[in-house]
Amino acid sequence: MPSAIVIGGGLAGLASAAALGQAGFQVDLFEARAFLGGRATSYPVPGDNSEVGVNSEVIDNCQHVLLRCCVNLMNFYGRLGVADRIQFHKRFYFIEPGGRTSILEAGALPAPLHFTGSFRKLAFLGLSDKIGIARALLAIRSEHGQRQDLDRITMLEWLREKRQTERAIRRFWNQVLVSAVNEDLDRMAASHGFQVFWLGFLARANTYEMGIPAVPLGDLYGPDSWRRIGNVRLRLREPVEQVVTEDGTIRGVMAGGERHTADYYISALPFERVPVLLPELQLNLEGFEHSPITGIHLWFDRSLTQLPHATLLDRTIQWMFNKSGGRYLQLVVSASRSLVDMPRADVIALGVRELAEFLPRAKEAKIEKAHVVKEIRATFSARAGLEQARPASATKFRNLFLAGDWTRSGWPATMEGAVRSGYLAAEGVAQAAGQRQEFLLPDIA
Ligand SMILES: Cc1cc2nc3c(=O)[nH]c(=O)nc-3n(C[C@H](O)[C@H](O)[C@H](O)COP(=O)(O)OP(=O)(O)OC[C@H]3O[C@@H](n4cnc5c(N)ncnc54)[C@H](O)[C@@H]3O)c2cc1C
Repeated sequence: MPSAIVIGGGLAGLASAAALGQAGFQVDLFEARAFLGGRATSYPVPGDNSEVGVNSEVIDNCQHVLLRCCVNLMNFYGRLGVADRIQFHKRFYFIEPGGRTSILEAGALPAPLHFTGSFRKLAFLGLSDKIGIARALLAIRSEHGQRQDLDRITMLEWLREKRQTERAIRRFWNQVLVSAVNEDLDRMAASHGFQVFWLGFLARANTYEMGIPAVPLGDLYGPDSWRRIGNVRLRLREPVEQVVTEDGTIRGVMAGGERHTADYYISALPFERVPVLLPELQLNLEGFEHSPITGIHLWFDRSLTQLPHATLLDRTIQWMFNKSGGRYLQLVVSASRSLVDMPRADVIALGVRELAEFLPRAKEAKIEKAHVVKEIRATFSARAGLEQARPASATKFRNLFLAGDWTRSGWPATMEGAVRSGYLAAEGVAQAAGQRQEFLLPDIA
Protein backbone atom coordinates (compact mmCIF):
# COMPACT_ATOMS: atom_id res chain seq x y z
CA MET A 1 0.00 0.00 0.00
CA PRO A 2 1.61 3.34 -0.95
CA SER A 3 1.69 5.85 1.87
CA ALA A 4 1.21 9.62 2.13
CA ILE A 5 1.66 12.23 4.83
CA VAL A 6 -0.67 15.23 4.76
CA ILE A 7 0.36 18.32 6.74
CA GLY A 8 -2.66 20.36 7.83
CA GLY A 9 -6.20 19.30 8.72
CA GLY A 10 -8.15 22.12 7.06
CA LEU A 11 -10.50 21.31 4.18
CA ALA A 12 -7.65 21.04 1.68
CA GLY A 13 -5.77 18.50 3.78
CA LEU A 14 -8.93 16.61 4.73
CA ALA A 15 -10.10 16.36 1.11
CA SER A 16 -6.76 15.03 -0.06
CA ALA A 17 -6.64 12.55 2.83
CA ALA A 18 -10.19 11.32 2.13
CA ALA A 19 -9.55 10.89 -1.59
CA LEU A 20 -6.25 9.07 -1.09
CA GLY A 21 -7.58 6.95 1.77
CA GLN A 22 -10.48 5.77 -0.38
CA ALA A 23 -8.09 5.11 -3.26
CA GLY A 24 -6.14 2.68 -1.06
CA PHE A 25 -3.28 4.85 0.21
CA GLN A 26 -2.25 4.68 3.87
CA VAL A 27 -2.51 8.30 4.98
CA ASP A 28 -1.20 10.04 8.10
CA LEU A 29 -2.62 13.51 8.57
CA PHE A 30 -0.81 15.86 10.98
CA GLU A 31 -2.84 18.72 12.40
CA ALA A 32 -1.37 21.25 14.82
CA ARG A 33 -4.61 21.94 16.62
CA ALA A 34 -6.85 19.70 18.71
CA PHE A 35 -9.62 19.75 16.11
CA LEU A 36 -10.11 19.44 12.36
CA GLY A 37 -11.43 21.95 9.88
CA GLY A 38 -8.82 24.73 10.06
CA ARG A 39 -10.57 27.97 9.19
CA ALA A 40 -13.93 26.22 8.72
CA THR A 41 -14.41 24.88 12.21
CA SER A 42 -16.35 25.10 15.45
CA TYR A 43 -15.51 25.22 19.14
CA PRO A 44 -17.27 25.77 22.49
CA VAL A 45 -18.12 29.42 22.89
CA PRO A 46 -15.75 30.92 25.47
CA GLY A 47 -17.61 30.99 28.80
CA ASP A 48 -18.84 34.09 30.56
CA ASN A 49 -21.38 34.94 33.24
CA SER A 50 -24.31 34.49 30.91
CA GLU A 51 -27.66 33.86 32.58
CA VAL A 52 -28.89 31.61 29.80
CA GLY A 53 -26.49 28.77 30.36
CA VAL A 54 -24.99 28.70 26.90
CA ASN A 55 -21.43 28.40 28.12
CA SER A 56 -20.88 25.00 26.61
CA GLU A 57 -22.63 25.79 23.32
CA VAL A 58 -20.57 24.89 20.28
CA ILE A 59 -20.42 27.67 17.69
CA ASP A 60 -18.83 27.94 14.27
CA ASN A 61 -15.93 30.38 14.14
CA CYS A 62 -18.08 32.07 11.54
CA GLN A 63 -21.08 31.06 9.46
CA HIS A 64 -19.83 29.16 6.41
CA VAL A 65 -22.12 28.85 3.40
CA LEU A 66 -21.78 27.24 0.01
CA LEU A 67 -23.69 27.34 -3.24
CA ARG A 68 -24.95 24.31 -5.15
CA CYS A 69 -22.23 24.94 -7.73
CA CYS A 70 -19.64 23.86 -5.10
CA VAL A 71 -19.64 20.34 -6.53
CA ASN A 72 -16.30 19.23 -5.12
CA LEU A 73 -17.17 20.33 -1.60
CA MET A 74 -20.44 18.38 -1.80
CA ASN A 75 -18.52 15.41 -3.19
CA PHE A 76 -16.17 15.61 -0.18
CA TYR A 77 -19.12 15.76 2.23
CA GLY A 78 -20.49 12.73 0.35
CA ARG A 79 -17.26 10.81 1.00
CA LEU A 80 -17.67 11.60 4.71
CA GLY A 81 -21.35 10.59 4.59
CA VAL A 82 -22.57 14.01 5.75
CA ALA A 83 -23.93 15.57 2.54
CA ASP A 84 -27.47 15.33 3.96
CA ARG A 85 -26.48 17.67 6.79
CA ILE A 86 -26.29 20.60 4.36
CA GLN A 87 -29.64 22.35 4.04
CA PHE A 88 -30.21 24.22 0.81
CA HIS A 89 -32.19 27.47 0.74
CA LYS A 90 -33.90 28.68 -2.42
CA ARG A 91 -34.64 32.24 -1.31
CA PHE A 92 -32.31 35.18 -0.79
CA TYR A 93 -33.76 37.92 1.42
CA PHE A 94 -32.53 41.49 0.95
CA ILE A 95 -33.52 43.89 3.73
CA GLU A 96 -33.24 47.67 3.47
CA PRO A 97 -32.73 49.91 6.50
CA GLY A 98 -36.29 50.41 7.75
CA GLY A 99 -37.16 46.75 7.23
CA ARG A 100 -38.52 46.53 3.66
CA THR A 101 -37.68 43.02 2.44
CA SER A 102 -37.25 41.77 -1.14
CA ILE A 103 -36.86 38.14 -2.22
CA LEU A 104 -34.71 36.80 -5.03
CA GLU A 105 -35.59 33.24 -6.05
CA ALA A 106 -35.81 31.11 -9.15
CA GLY A 107 -39.13 30.96 -10.99
CA ALA A 108 -40.45 28.64 -13.67
CA LEU A 109 -38.34 29.93 -16.57
CA PRO A 110 -35.19 28.00 -17.53
CA ALA A 111 -31.67 29.38 -16.90
CA PRO A 112 -30.51 32.07 -17.47
CA LEU A 113 -33.99 33.59 -17.26
CA HIS A 114 -34.93 31.85 -13.99
CA PHE A 115 -34.66 34.99 -11.85
CA THR A 116 -36.68 37.20 -14.20
CA GLY A 117 -39.87 37.24 -12.14
CA SER A 118 -38.38 37.90 -8.70
CA PHE A 119 -35.66 40.24 -10.05
CA ARG A 120 -38.32 42.51 -11.58
CA LYS A 121 -39.99 42.80 -8.17
CA LEU A 122 -36.86 43.70 -6.14
CA ALA A 123 -37.90 46.87 -4.32
CA PHE A 124 -34.42 48.07 -3.44
CA LEU A 125 -33.43 48.70 -7.08
CA GLY A 126 -34.95 51.11 -9.58
CA LEU A 127 -35.77 50.39 -13.24
CA SER A 128 -32.54 51.90 -14.59
CA ASP A 129 -30.48 49.88 -12.08
CA LYS A 130 -32.21 46.69 -13.22
CA ILE A 131 -31.82 47.36 -16.93
CA GLY A 132 -28.11 48.02 -16.35
CA ILE A 133 -27.69 44.83 -14.30
CA ALA A 134 -29.48 42.75 -16.97
CA ARG A 135 -27.13 44.19 -19.60
CA ALA A 136 -24.09 43.37 -17.48
CA LEU A 137 -25.29 39.81 -16.86
CA LEU A 138 -25.62 39.33 -20.62
CA ALA A 139 -22.08 40.68 -20.97
CA ILE A 140 -20.83 38.13 -18.42
CA ARG A 141 -22.38 35.40 -20.55
CA SER A 142 -20.69 36.60 -23.69
CA GLU A 143 -17.31 37.60 -22.20
CA HIS A 144 -16.91 34.59 -19.90
CA GLY A 145 -14.06 32.41 -21.16
CA GLN A 146 -13.40 34.85 -24.01
CA ARG A 147 -11.90 37.95 -22.49
CA GLN A 148 -8.21 37.73 -21.54
CA ASP A 149 -7.81 40.62 -19.09
CA LEU A 150 -10.28 39.59 -16.39
CA ASP A 151 -7.55 38.47 -13.98
CA ARG A 152 -5.82 41.82 -14.34
CA ILE A 153 -8.68 44.29 -13.99
CA THR A 154 -10.82 44.79 -10.89
CA MET A 155 -14.50 43.96 -10.77
CA LEU A 156 -15.22 47.63 -10.13
CA GLU A 157 -13.36 48.62 -13.31
CA TRP A 158 -15.44 46.12 -15.24
CA LEU A 159 -18.70 47.36 -13.70
CA ARG A 160 -17.80 50.96 -14.55
CA GLU A 161 -17.00 49.87 -18.11
CA LYS A 162 -20.53 48.43 -18.22
CA ARG A 163 -21.91 51.76 -16.90
CA GLN A 164 -23.60 50.33 -13.83
CA THR A 165 -25.45 52.82 -11.64
CA GLU A 166 -24.01 53.62 -8.21
CA ARG A 167 -27.04 52.03 -6.57
CA ALA A 168 -26.70 48.83 -8.61
CA ILE A 169 -23.03 48.61 -7.67
CA ARG A 170 -23.67 49.21 -3.99
CA ARG A 171 -26.85 47.23 -3.46
CA PHE A 172 -26.46 44.38 -5.94
CA TRP A 173 -22.92 43.68 -7.14
CA ASN A 174 -21.19 44.71 -3.93
CA GLN A 175 -23.73 42.95 -1.75
CA VAL A 176 -23.36 39.61 -3.52
CA LEU A 177 -19.67 39.62 -4.36
CA VAL A 178 -17.92 41.02 -1.29
CA SER A 179 -19.31 38.15 0.80
CA ALA A 180 -18.69 35.53 -1.88
CA VAL A 181 -15.07 36.50 -2.59
CA ASN A 182 -14.18 38.24 0.70
CA GLU A 183 -12.75 41.26 -1.02
CA ASP A 184 -13.89 44.75 -2.01
CA LEU A 185 -14.92 45.40 -5.60
CA ASP A 186 -12.07 47.84 -6.17
CA ARG A 187 -9.50 45.14 -5.30
CA MET A 188 -11.12 41.88 -6.44
CA ALA A 189 -10.09 40.48 -9.83
CA ALA A 190 -13.03 40.66 -12.24
CA SER A 191 -12.52 36.95 -13.02
CA HIS A 192 -13.74 36.02 -9.52
CA GLY A 193 -16.83 38.19 -9.86
CA PHE A 194 -17.51 36.55 -13.21
CA GLN A 195 -17.18 33.10 -11.75
CA VAL A 196 -19.66 33.75 -8.95
CA PHE A 197 -22.29 35.05 -11.34
CA TRP A 198 -21.55 32.61 -14.14
CA LEU A 199 -21.61 29.46 -12.03
CA GLY A 200 -23.94 30.57 -9.26
CA PHE A 201 -26.50 32.68 -11.10
CA LEU A 202 -26.46 32.05 -14.83
CA ALA A 203 -25.35 28.53 -15.69
CA ARG A 204 -28.20 26.53 -14.17
CA ALA A 205 -31.44 27.37 -12.43
CA ASN A 206 -30.55 25.77 -9.07
CA THR A 207 -26.83 26.50 -8.64
CA TYR A 208 -27.52 29.72 -6.69
CA GLU A 209 -29.19 27.76 -3.87
CA MET A 210 -27.34 28.44 -0.64
CA GLY A 211 -26.21 25.52 1.49
CA ILE A 212 -25.97 26.00 5.24
CA PRO A 213 -24.72 23.20 7.49
CA ALA A 214 -27.45 22.07 9.89
CA VAL A 215 -24.79 21.00 12.42
CA PRO A 216 -21.69 22.75 13.75
CA LEU A 217 -18.92 22.66 11.14
CA GLY A 218 -16.72 20.44 13.32
CA ASP A 219 -19.41 17.72 13.34
CA LEU A 220 -19.00 17.32 9.57
CA TYR A 221 -15.51 15.92 10.05
CA GLY A 222 -16.21 13.72 13.07
CA PRO A 223 -14.69 10.29 13.83
CA ASP A 224 -17.63 8.32 12.32
CA SER A 225 -16.96 9.92 8.96
CA TRP A 226 -13.32 8.88 9.01
CA ARG A 227 -14.17 5.30 9.95
CA ARG A 228 -16.10 5.12 6.65
CA ILE A 229 -13.06 6.29 4.72
CA GLY A 230 -10.56 3.93 6.34
CA ASN A 231 -6.78 4.08 5.86
CA VAL A 232 -6.50 7.58 7.36
CA ARG A 233 -4.78 8.13 10.72
CA LEU A 234 -5.64 11.54 12.17
CA ARG A 235 -2.87 12.93 14.34
CA LEU A 236 -4.36 15.87 16.20
CA ARG A 237 -2.23 18.24 18.29
CA GLU A 238 0.80 17.06 16.32
CA PRO A 239 2.28 20.09 14.55
CA VAL A 240 4.91 19.31 11.97
CA GLU A 241 8.04 21.05 13.21
CA GLN A 242 10.31 20.40 10.27
CA VAL A 243 10.25 18.88 6.80
CA VAL A 244 13.35 16.83 6.06
CA THR A 245 14.65 17.16 2.50
CA GLU A 246 17.54 15.59 0.63
CA ASP A 247 18.51 15.51 -3.04
CA GLY A 248 15.24 16.98 -4.33
CA THR A 249 13.14 14.53 -2.31
CA ILE A 250 11.20 14.80 0.93
CA ARG A 251 12.62 12.26 3.39
CA GLY A 252 10.24 12.78 6.28
CA VAL A 253 8.60 15.19 8.70
CA MET A 254 9.51 15.86 12.31
CA ALA A 255 6.57 15.95 14.73
CA GLY A 256 6.68 15.46 18.49
CA GLY A 257 10.44 15.04 18.23
CA GLU A 258 10.06 11.96 15.99
CA ARG A 259 10.65 11.45 12.32
CA HIS A 260 7.71 10.16 10.27
CA THR A 261 8.15 8.98 6.72
CA ALA A 262 5.93 8.16 3.74
CA ASP A 263 6.23 7.72 0.00
CA TYR A 264 4.46 11.02 -0.75
CA TYR A 265 3.75 14.30 1.05
CA ILE A 266 1.08 16.95 0.74
CA SER A 267 1.51 20.38 2.30
CA ALA A 268 -1.99 21.72 3.03
CA LEU A 269 -0.80 24.68 5.07
CA PRO A 270 -1.92 28.31 4.84
CA PHE A 271 0.37 30.32 2.56
CA GLU A 272 2.15 32.19 5.35
CA ARG A 273 3.27 28.89 6.96
CA VAL A 274 4.82 27.34 3.85
CA PRO A 275 8.09 29.36 3.73
CA VAL A 276 8.61 28.53 7.44
CA LEU A 277 8.39 24.76 6.97
CA LEU A 278 9.56 24.52 3.38
CA PRO A 279 12.10 27.31 2.78
CA GLU A 280 13.75 25.25 0.00
CA LEU A 281 10.64 25.70 -2.13
CA GLN A 282 11.55 29.39 -2.45
CA LEU A 283 7.93 30.24 -3.14
CA ASN A 284 7.42 33.74 -4.41
CA LEU A 285 4.55 34.98 -2.28
CA GLU A 286 4.92 38.62 -3.26
CA GLY A 287 1.47 40.09 -3.61
CA PHE A 288 -0.20 37.62 -1.23
CA GLU A 289 -1.95 39.39 1.61
CA HIS A 290 -4.86 38.59 3.90
CA SER A 291 -8.41 39.83 3.88
CA PRO A 292 -10.26 39.67 7.23
CA ILE A 293 -13.78 38.48 8.12
CA THR A 294 -15.60 39.40 11.33
CA GLY A 295 -18.41 37.37 12.87
CA ILE A 296 -20.60 38.90 15.56
CA HIS A 297 -22.57 36.35 17.59
CA LEU A 298 -25.52 37.81 19.49
CA TRP A 299 -27.90 36.03 21.86
CA PHE A 300 -31.10 37.98 22.64
CA ASP A 301 -33.78 37.45 25.28
CA ARG A 302 -36.47 37.06 22.61
CA SER A 303 -36.94 36.08 19.00
CA LEU A 304 -36.20 38.91 16.57
CA THR A 305 -36.99 37.26 13.25
CA GLN A 306 -38.40 34.20 11.56
CA LEU A 307 -36.17 34.61 8.51
CA PRO A 308 -33.45 31.95 8.22
CA HIS A 309 -30.96 34.52 6.92
CA ALA A 310 -30.87 37.85 5.12
CA THR A 311 -28.45 40.18 3.46
CA LEU A 312 -28.57 43.67 4.98
CA LEU A 313 -28.17 46.63 2.64
CA ASP A 314 -26.20 49.86 2.95
CA ARG A 315 -24.54 49.18 6.30
CA THR A 316 -21.36 47.61 7.69
CA ILE A 317 -23.08 44.31 8.50
CA GLN A 318 -23.63 42.35 5.30
CA TRP A 319 -25.37 39.16 6.42
CA MET A 320 -27.54 37.96 9.25
CA PHE A 321 -27.95 34.25 9.97
CA ASN A 322 -30.65 32.96 12.28
CA LYS A 323 -28.81 30.29 14.24
CA SER A 324 -31.54 29.41 16.72
CA GLY A 325 -35.16 30.49 16.97
CA GLY A 326 -34.48 34.11 16.06
CA ARG A 327 -32.70 34.58 19.43
CA TYR A 328 -29.18 33.59 18.47
CA LEU A 329 -28.20 35.62 15.42
CA GLN A 330 -24.86 35.69 13.72
CA LEU A 331 -23.82 38.80 11.79
CA VAL A 332 -21.05 38.60 9.22
CA VAL A 333 -18.83 41.29 7.73
CA SER A 334 -16.51 40.21 4.92
CA ALA A 335 -13.42 42.20 3.90
CA SER A 336 -13.87 43.72 7.37
CA ARG A 337 -10.77 45.93 7.47
CA SER A 338 -12.75 48.74 9.13
CA LEU A 339 -13.41 46.49 12.17
CA VAL A 340 -9.96 45.02 12.68
CA ASP A 341 -8.75 47.69 15.12
CA MET A 342 -12.15 48.48 16.62
CA PRO A 343 -12.54 47.35 20.27
CA ARG A 344 -14.80 44.30 20.56
CA ALA A 345 -17.38 46.16 22.67
CA ASP A 346 -17.69 48.76 19.90
CA VAL A 347 -18.07 46.03 17.27
CA ILE A 348 -20.92 44.52 19.30
CA ALA A 349 -22.55 47.94 19.77
CA LEU A 350 -22.31 48.60 16.03
CA GLY A 351 -23.85 45.21 15.25
CA VAL A 352 -26.76 45.74 17.63
CA ARG A 353 -27.34 49.31 16.44
CA GLU A 354 -27.38 48.32 12.78
CA LEU A 355 -29.50 45.23 13.38
CA ALA A 356 -32.19 47.40 14.97
CA GLU A 357 -32.49 49.30 11.69
CA PHE A 358 -33.48 46.08 9.91
CA LEU A 359 -35.27 44.12 12.60
CA PRO A 360 -37.37 46.55 14.64
CA ARG A 361 -37.83 44.01 17.46
CA ALA A 362 -34.13 44.40 18.24
CA LYS A 363 -34.89 47.85 19.74
CA GLU A 364 -36.70 46.35 22.74
CA ALA A 365 -34.66 43.17 23.04
CA LYS A 366 -31.93 42.66 25.62
CA ILE A 367 -28.64 41.04 24.79
CA GLU A 368 -27.88 38.04 26.95
CA LYS A 369 -24.53 37.19 25.47
CA ALA A 370 -22.26 38.40 22.71
CA HIS A 371 -19.09 37.10 21.13
CA VAL A 372 -16.93 38.57 18.38
CA VAL A 373 -14.63 36.52 16.16
CA LYS A 374 -12.16 38.59 14.16
CA GLU A 375 -10.44 36.33 11.66
CA ILE A 376 -7.64 38.63 10.53
CA ARG A 377 -6.19 35.95 8.25
CA ALA A 378 -9.55 34.73 6.99
CA THR A 379 -8.54 34.35 3.33
CA PHE A 380 -5.98 35.61 0.89
CA SER A 381 -6.99 38.78 -0.87
CA ALA A 382 -8.23 37.74 -4.33
CA ARG A 383 -7.00 40.95 -5.86
CA ALA A 384 -6.46 41.69 -9.53
CA GLY A 385 -3.10 40.50 -10.82
CA LEU A 386 -2.60 37.72 -8.26
CA GLU A 387 -3.81 34.69 -10.20
CA GLN A 388 -0.49 34.12 -11.97
CA ALA A 389 1.32 34.05 -8.62
CA ARG A 390 -0.80 31.19 -7.21
CA PRO A 391 1.35 28.05 -7.40
CA ALA A 392 0.18 24.81 -9.00
CA SER A 393 0.20 21.62 -6.96
CA ALA A 394 3.39 19.98 -8.28
CA THR A 395 6.65 21.24 -6.76
CA LYS A 396 10.32 20.84 -7.48
CA PHE A 397 10.33 17.94 -5.01
CA ARG A 398 9.15 14.87 -6.90
CA ASN A 399 7.19 13.52 -3.90
CA LEU A 400 5.72 16.78 -2.56
CA PHE A 401 2.46 18.41 -3.65
CA LEU A 402 0.88 21.66 -2.50
CA ALA A 403 -2.73 22.14 -1.48
CA GLY A 404 -4.58 24.99 0.23
CA ASP A 405 -7.20 27.52 -0.84
CA TRP A 406 -4.41 29.89 -1.93
CA THR A 407 -2.92 27.51 -4.52
CA ARG A 408 -4.08 27.56 -8.12
CA SER A 409 -7.42 25.82 -7.64
CA GLY A 410 -9.35 27.84 -10.21
CA TRP A 411 -11.49 29.29 -7.40
CA PRO A 412 -11.09 32.12 -4.89
CA ALA A 413 -10.42 31.29 -1.22
CA THR A 414 -13.47 29.23 -0.37
CA MET A 415 -14.25 25.79 1.00
CA GLU A 416 -14.77 24.65 -2.60
CA GLY A 417 -11.40 26.10 -3.58
CA ALA A 418 -9.71 24.31 -0.65
CA VAL A 419 -11.31 20.94 -1.53
CA ARG A 420 -10.42 21.38 -5.20
CA SER A 421 -6.80 22.02 -4.25
CA GLY A 422 -6.82 18.92 -2.03
CA TYR A 423 -8.19 16.77 -4.85
CA LEU A 424 -5.62 18.17 -7.29
CA ALA A 425 -2.77 17.39 -4.87
CA ALA A 426 -4.18 13.87 -4.33
CA GLU A 427 -4.31 13.37 -8.10
CA GLY A 428 -0.64 14.42 -8.24
CA VAL A 429 0.23 11.85 -5.59
CA ALA A 430 -1.73 9.09 -7.33
CA GLN A 431 -0.10 9.89 -10.64
CA ALA A 432 3.38 9.87 -9.07
CA ALA A 433 2.49 6.44 -7.66
CA GLY A 434 1.63 5.24 -11.16
CA GLN A 435 -2.15 5.30 -10.67
CA ARG A 436 -4.65 7.11 -12.85
CA GLN A 437 -7.15 8.66 -10.46
CA GLU A 438 -9.47 11.56 -11.16
CA PHE A 439 -10.78 13.07 -7.95
CA LEU A 440 -11.56 16.60 -9.16
CA LEU A 441 -15.04 17.11 -10.57
CA PRO A 442 -15.30 19.73 -13.32
CA ASP A 443 -17.31 22.90 -12.70
CA ILE A 444 -20.94 22.43 -13.68
CA ALA A 445 -20.55 24.84 -16.60
C1 LIG B 1 -14.44 33.73 9.20
C2 LIG B 1 -14.41 32.97 7.91
C3 LIG B 1 -15.57 32.83 7.15
C4 LIG B 1 -15.53 32.13 5.96
N1 LIG B 1 -16.69 31.93 5.27
C5 LIG B 1 -16.69 31.12 4.19
C6 LIG B 1 -17.91 30.77 3.55
O1 LIG B 1 -19.00 31.19 3.97
N2 LIG B 1 -17.86 29.96 2.47
C7 LIG B 1 -16.68 29.45 2.00
O2 LIG B 1 -16.70 28.68 1.04
N3 LIG B 1 -15.49 29.77 2.59
C8 LIG B 1 -15.47 30.58 3.67
N4 LIG B 1 -14.30 30.87 4.28
C9 LIG B 1 -13.02 30.41 3.68
C10 LIG B 1 -12.73 28.96 4.04
O3 LIG B 1 -12.89 28.72 5.42
C11 LIG B 1 -11.27 28.66 3.66
O4 LIG B 1 -11.04 29.03 2.32
C12 LIG B 1 -10.92 27.19 3.82
O5 LIG B 1 -11.46 26.63 4.98
C13 LIG B 1 -9.39 27.05 3.81
O6 LIG B 1 -9.02 25.70 3.97
P1 LIG B 1 -7.49 25.26 3.87
O7 LIG B 1 -7.47 23.81 4.17
O8 LIG B 1 -6.91 25.75 2.60
O9 LIG B 1 -6.70 26.07 5.01
P2 LIG B 1 -6.87 26.01 6.60
O10 LIG B 1 -8.30 25.83 6.96
O11 LIG B 1 -6.18 27.23 7.12
O12 LIG B 1 -6.07 24.70 7.05
C14 LIG B 1 -4.71 24.68 7.33
C15 LIG B 1 -4.48 23.78 8.55
O13 LIG B 1 -3.08 23.61 8.76
C16 LIG B 1 -2.88 23.53 10.16
N5 LIG B 1 -1.45 23.76 10.43
C17 LIG B 1 -0.77 24.94 10.40
N6 LIG B 1 0.54 24.72 10.69
C18 LIG B 1 0.67 23.38 10.88
C19 LIG B 1 1.78 22.53 11.18
N7 LIG B 1 3.00 23.03 11.35
N8 LIG B 1 1.56 21.20 11.31
C20 LIG B 1 0.33 20.68 11.15
N9 LIG B 1 -0.77 21.44 10.86
C21 LIG B 1 -0.59 22.77 10.72
C22 LIG B 1 -3.81 24.59 10.69
O14 LIG B 1 -4.06 24.39 12.08
C23 LIG B 1 -5.06 24.35 9.83
O15 LIG B 1 -5.93 23.41 10.42
C24 LIG B 1 -14.30 31.59 5.48
C25 LIG B 1 -13.15 31.73 6.25
C26 LIG B 1 -13.19 32.39 7.45
C27 LIG B 1 -11.95 32.49 8.27
